[in-house]
Amino acid sequence: MGNKFQQLLGAHTSIAGGIWRAVKKADKLGFTAMQIFTKNSNRWQAKPLTEKDIWEFKEKLKESKIKFVVAHDSYLINLCAKDETILKKSREAFIDELQRCELLGIPYLNFHPGSHGGMGERKGIKLIAESINFAHEKTKGFNVSSMLELTAGQGTTLGYTFEQIAEIIELVDEKERMSVCIDTAHIFAAGYDIRTPESYEKVMSNFDSTIGLERLKCFHINDSKKELGSRVDRHEHIGKGFIGTGGFANIMNDKRLLRVPKILETPKGKEQKEDLVNLRVLKSLIR
Ligand code: ZN
Ligand code: MN
Ligand code: MN
Repeated sequence: MGNKFQQLLGAHTSIAGGIWRAVKKADKLGFTAMQIFTKNSNRWQAKPLTEKDIWEFKEKLKESKIKFVVAHDSYLINLCAKDETILKKSREAFIDELQRCELLGIPYLNFHPGSHGGMGERKGIKLIAESINFAHEKTKGFNVSSMLELTAGQGTTLGYTFEQIAEIIELVDEKERMSVCIDTAHIFAAGYDIRTPESYEKVMSNFDSTIGLERLKCFHINDSKKELGSRVDRHEHIGKGFIGTGGFANIMNDKRLLRVPKILETPKGKEQKEDLVNLRVLKSLIR
């Protein structure tokens, strides 16, 4: 089918009622890729996964057409928290998330690098890398990759430039365990213009020379409610925001990135009908 090569596409899907339910739902919606939380994203604690949870999840996945799963970590985790108690809790929770992924056979744990809360960017970056090294040491030999997500740079959040992401990876000992996710709304709000073929090409070659395209293992495909460089993180439906369909056409037709899964995190109701509309828009952009 030439350019119609089946790209892995899907959306973040709720695990309400059990992790396996998310797989059923995503498969029913026709996704080939999906993102989940492996626990309640607004809580520190989670019940340990049971053998049954794990078995059901793996079985449903095998029966489905889903070929890529990424887990998103809890929003509470801050790997460069200024408060020592929060930092300790964050590290423990992060390790727990790595363990949950490993048990479920999920190959990527996506996370926001962290918010330095005023300690300064340099210190924050160092602390994030220390936290990752600590977590990796506690999870020796795990297959799950730690996936740094590019951010919008809202407040004191780090990871809003390619350089910052590269610096974190540089400070991590087990670099083979590191991967990167581009969130289109985030990088756009951070000032990376992907709207025209020319500006997009500049952004991607910058990514390649700073981080390396081989580390890019996932896209969060979101339009942005806020303008270029606003540093504000607000997701919008595809084509309805400041990025517009042109920007997404650049991504969907980038031959280097056909094998990188693309996952929506756009607003949706319980039935996720909005996801189907957004996926239709994305597919229509493939030339
Ligand atoms: Zn995220
Ligand atoms: Mn995202
Ligand atoms: Mn966001």
